[in-house]
Amino acid sequence: MANTVKPEPYWWDAAPRRTEAPATLPARVDVAVVGGGYTGLSAALTLARRSREVLVFDADATGSGASSRNQGHLGVNRHFYARATAAYGKEKAHRLFREDEAALEFTFDLIRHEKIECYLQRNGRFVGAAKPGQYEQMAREAEALRREIGYEVHTVPRAEVRQHIGTDDYVGGELRPREGCVHSALFHNGLLDRALEAGAKVVSETPVQHIERTKDGFTISSPKGKVQARDVLIATNALSGDLIPYIKRRILPLNGAGIATEPLSPELIRSVVPGMRPCVDTRKVGRTVRPSPDGTRIVYGGRATMAERDPLVSGVKLRAIMCSVFPQLSDARITHSWFGPTGITFQMMPHIGLYQGMHCALGYSPYGVAQAPYLGHKAALRILRANDAATAFDDLPFETRPLYYGNPWFLPAVVAYYRYKDFVSR
Ligand SMILES: Cc1cc2nc3c(=O)[nH]c(=O)nc-3n(C[C@H](O)[C@H](O)[C@H](O)COP(=O)(O)OP(=O)(O)OC[C@H]3O[C@@H](n4cnc5c(N)ncnc54)[C@H](O)[C@@H]3O)c2cc1C
Repeated sequence: MANTVKPEPYWWDAAPRRTEAPATLPARVDVAVVGGGYTGLSAALTLARRSREVLVFDADATGSGASSRNQGHLGVNRHFYARATAAYGKEKAHRLFREDEAALEFTFDLIRHEKIECYLQRNGRFVGAAKPGQYEQMAREAEALRREIGYEVHTVPRAEVRQHIGTDDYVGGELRPREGCVHSALFHNGLLDRALEAGAKVVSETPVQHIERTKDGFTISSPKGKVQARDVLIATNALSGDLIPYIKRRILPLNGAGIATEPLSPELIRSVVPGMRPCVDTRKVGRTVRPSPDGTRIVYGGRATMAERDPLVSGVKLRAIMCSVFPQLSDARITHSWFGPTGITFQMMPHIGLYQGMHCALGYSPYGVAQAPYLGHKAALRILRANDAATAFDDLPFETRPLYYGNPWFLPAVVAYYRYKDFVSR
């Protein structure tokens, strides 16, 4: 496989990464945004549309982080309601779930209103239950979501699973009709275009090295020079690095992996995803499968990993998992294999807040396709001191743990434990 597999996201074939390089950096802007993924660009778009001078820094080609590597599932966080109820009680959980729903609606609307061509699809998402106990829990949670919140979720008994996904690996599942998917990197490129058209400036391959508070704002230092900014937004998510140790101590960077098959026959594609919609499962180390946006390939994801660095090695393992679930794909060649960084908070909820006068929005777990554009927009509204800036996430804690300084040394053990739990739990 090694000679013919591209060690980069399938998504980059249609949407290659871009390098923006303004002739000179402005000496002063209203807002400096650190990070050119969905969060940073959505914020830049909102700010530029309201006549603010904005400069987005990206350490790499713009958006080569998670925003152009993800699988493009557009949904609410499946664990949100139960987790929020346990942590904060029912009333707060309702508000948090509504906010997550608002994020989903915001992102669907954003793509439509901005006319971003990124294969937006809203034909539902299927979630497969890997174990009977998980199916029972799923059915209870679906019932609570319908009854208490009015969120549409249809429980799918075992006998009907094959209408949704072409495997006997699942003992049941659920269909979430209001969810869907996009082409992740085309979405990112479209957002970049809109932000540039609105007047935002973007500088790629320019890491922010240092941010210093001044009497009327901040001085941002980069290899291309210094820029003064009245406000700063940190939108670096899993790639936050050493820039702000406070944030580094509060974000767990987890590596997800993806593969794409060669073009396959329509019959073979439908034998895997009969509904031509994205599917995910209840495993703790979850697996995702979807048709490519043009319906010609299977794109598969999973295997959170920290130790592996070579996507070609990981691709072989991920393909083996895919073929064990979908034996009909045993002859399908893999053409792309890649990793991507997901940022997770210890409280497993996204964070939007202020640290030493700097705004930040990050930590979406694997639900940032909807949440990141929304919270980027909300962070921009906070900078603008707009009346509609508030979110239910505003007062959540941004936790760290003793002995965690940004190197998640314990994650390989945690992932191994979760794999073991996936194997033994009922
Ligand atoms: C493999 C994978 C699959 C996923 N699948 C899904 C999915 O199907 N659905 C879903 O909802 N979510 C998914 N996610 C999560 C989702 O992609 C992210 O939550 C979202 O893209 C985060 O966007 P962001 O803008 O906050 O961060 P990113 O897109 O990671 O952007 C951060 C940017 O900050 C820049 N940066 C970092 N440090 C500096 C610095 N010092 N100076 C300048 N720039 C800096 C980086 O270069 C990077 O471009 C997935 C993630 C991965 C990795």
